[in-house]
Amino acid sequence: MKNETDILIIGGGIAGISTLYHLTRMGWSDVMLAEKIELTSGSTWHAAGNLPHFSNSYNVMKLQQYSIDLYTRLEKETGHPVDHHQTGALRLAHTRSRMDEFERVVAMSELAGLRLEMIDTRRMEELHPFLDTTGLLGGLWHPDDGHIDPTSVTNTLAAGARQGGNYCAQQPG
Ligand SMILES: Cc1cc2nc3c(=O)[nH]c(=O)nc-3n(C[C@H](O)[C@H](O)[C@H](O)COP(=O)(O)OP(=O)(O)OC[C@H]3O[C@@H](n4cnc5c(N)ncnc54)[C@H](O)[C@@H]3O)c2cc1C
Repeated sequence: MKNETDILIIGGGIAGISTLYHLTRMGWSDVMLAEKIELTSGSTWHAAGNLPHFSNSYNVMKLQQYSIDLYTRLEKETGHPVDHHQTGALRLAHTRSRMDEFERVVAMSELAGLRLEMIDTRRMEELHPFLDTTGLLGGLWHPDDGHIDPTSVTNTLAAGARQGGNYCAQQPG
């Protein structure tokens, strides 16, 4: 194993592996990652894997959009499966203030180039026939939301980094 490198990343969860992958894409060629147990053995392995496009912050929304775009192309780019499912998601509003919040997020999403949509209860029932809409004022529909297997994504990003000629080293626990 090498004992000198330009950049050493500690920890093979999504944060470390994503850093490794993106450095590779930026052209860094001497990067090493050290993981004390095995890739995704930390909290990444336990993550639910939800991929929402919902935030009250424009910057976070752009970050979510970038991640989902990346996850959508990653399987084709690397040849490794990522188990990504774009199921769409519904958010429910019981109060006027929640509707106001959704409308503000939709306006922001238009600026960010996302497809979020305010919908009425009839459309909600069409999308989810088992939903009881009693007491609901409306909701927010995100057609591009979904979920992904965090372990697959991490291992696929690691494969992408290796394809870029970088190191992804593991050390025994
Ligand atoms: C696709 C995806 C979806 C997610 N969805 C959700 C969600 O719906 N809800 C939610 O709450 N969270 C979600 N998360 C976030 C998740 O719960 C964690 O917050 C996140 O995965 C933490 O990543 P991490 O790399 O910071 O930490 P970790 O995964 O814990 O990685 C740290 C790694 O460092 C290693 N390490 C520690 N010390 C050393 C050392 N001294 N030397 C070498 N190695 C060391 C550990 O063994 C571990 O592998 C999601 C994450 C992903 C990837």
